[in-house]
Amino acid sequence: MRIGVDRSRCIGAGMCALTAPEVFDQDTGDGRVLTLDAAPEGAAAEAARRAVGLCPSGALSEVPPTRENRDRT
Ligand code: SF4
Repeated sequence: MRIGVDRSRCIGAGMCALTAPEVFDQDTGDGRVLTLDAAPEGAAAEAARRAVGLCPSGALSEVPPTRENRDRT
């Protein structure tokens, strides 16, 4: 899967980093999300999907596969 992140919408709630620490972290400066792995697989992908659903600001999304990124997801 591929993760989409809109940092401008992030409010620094930290649910993503708690839910999927292999995929997300928080900036120590402004508290906003940092992406550690934009194309997680396996258990990390499942955790990332949960984080997308838990994010209170809608900053995270799952990017649908396209012809361009299908082979990399
Ligand atoms: S859960 Fe959403 S609002 Fe909270 S830090 Fe992560 S991306 Fe930002």
